Amino acid sequence: MKKKKIRCFKIYESIGNSTYNYEIIIPLKSGWCNNTLVTCKNCGELFVIDWENPATENLSILDIAGSSVCPTCQSQLKDIVASYPHTIRVSEGVFGSFNESGITHSNVQTEVLEFYELRPRLEQRE
Ligand SMILES: [Zn+2]
Repeated sequence: MKKKKIRCFKIYESIGNSTYNYEIIIPLKSGWCNNTLVTCKNCGELFVIDWENPATENLSILDIAGSSVCPTCQSQLKDIVASYPHTIRVSEGVFGSFNESGITHSNVQTEVLEFYELRPRLEQRE
């Protein structure tokens, strides 16, 4: 699975489960950039989906991730992929959740991070 670099910022918030000041990574959305993150619920690996890729049009996260195997824990992603940060794996069997919809993107310090990129299956054959 290839990796993709995207520009993100980090926030530190409560994510439930008595977990406070937890680091949450939010992809920066601007212009042609529309990346979202999903997570492997088994090991917590994060993946990026680039919704500006025309091949992702009308597909769900499951459509895109369903045929892939997590490179970190070798699990079939179709059973364990979840949208992030709605689902955050804190540790074994412990999950937090954060709603990013109210987060503003102005005046944040951004950085470029690298994630495995989930792409639709047809494209993976390239
Ligand atoms: Zn995994």
